[in-house]
Amino acid sequence: RQAQYRLLRDKQAVTRDGVEVRLLMNAGLMVDLPHLTESGAEGIGLFRTELQFMVASTMPRMKDQRAFYASVLDAAGDRPVTFRTLDIGGDKVLPYMRTFTEENPALGWRAIRLGLDRPGLLRMQLRALLGAAAGRELRVMLPMVTEVDELRRARALLDREIEHLRRHGHEEPTRVLLGSMVEVPQLLFQLDELMAETDFVSVGSNDLLQFMTASDRGNTNVAGRFDILSRPFLRALRLVARAADKAGKPITLCGEMAGRPIGAMVLAALGYRSLSMSPASVGPVKQMLLALDLGRLKTRVDAALDSHEGDDVLRGALAAFAETE
Ligand code: PEP
Ligand code: MG
Repeated sequence: RQAQYRLLRDKQAVTRDGVEVRLLMNAGLMVDLPHLTESGAEGIGLFRTELQFMVASTMPRMKDQRAFYASVLDAAGDRPVTFRTLDIGGDKVLPYMRTFTEENPALGWRAIRLGLDRPGLLRMQLRALLGAAAGRELRVMLPMVTEVDELRRARALLDREIEHLRRHGHEEPTRVLLGSMVEVPQLLFQLDELMAETDFVSVGSNDLLQFMTASDRGNTNVAGRFDILSRPFLRALRLVARAADKAGKPITLCGEMAGRPIGAMVLAALGYRSLSMSPASVGPVKQMLLALDLGRLKTRVDAALDSHEGDDVLRGALAAFAETE
């Protein structure tokens, strides 16, 4: 199988009826980077910057962060990299940072909330990213955005850092794009406003599903309720894809479901044309897409989402689809 996937490495992921889907990979550490070439991914759709902070024993200094991001961009070459700003707090604790106990860490003081309330750390990271991307494109993405205003405030910080570069005569990136993760359900009801303010979006299906179903993504007792194929969840994903399409904003999905062939299959049917996944998933997902009659599947999935048939009917249909392809 591995050999079979290797043969597909340089092949574009195009469905049988001619629809192209861009396959990107998730990464976070230097050791992930060789997989970029080995897996055949077209770029890094999610770079989890908190990993560098989590493996360090002291807070990485600005110049260490900058050097790290620059080496990621060097390794990626012409392929795009989307850096996500720190998603720490909650259960992702840094050993050298003062910690505090929270009753509901997933719902706590984390990610962009921490970034905006204590902007020193976020500004340092933005400065490091801008420096690393001098003369090339920079793509930055914010985790756990709950209100569009958080994106506005982060953009103001980013603009200040760009201004700082200019004042000091440092080389700037050729282009800076700022995007938002969509992983908090409240954003589903601000989609038009969000799309107007953001340069791109990426759906974090792990957290979005956790919050939509009120089911801890890591708790095996509720794993059965954490269902990527439930129709309310798929309707939400379709809503985001349609809003992005209407606004002409690029959209990717970077949660674990993108790396499961049945997940990627249904996402393609919902309109997703860019998926980011673990490098080992690129081969299997590509193989599935190459055999897929997307038009026929889309008709089936849309009909299921517009009807009152049970989740199990859709699941059965998808399984049958996966087998006949
Ligand atoms: C997600 O929530 O789907 C996501 C991609 O981010 P993380 O898994 O790092 O929370
Ligand atoms: Mg997340």
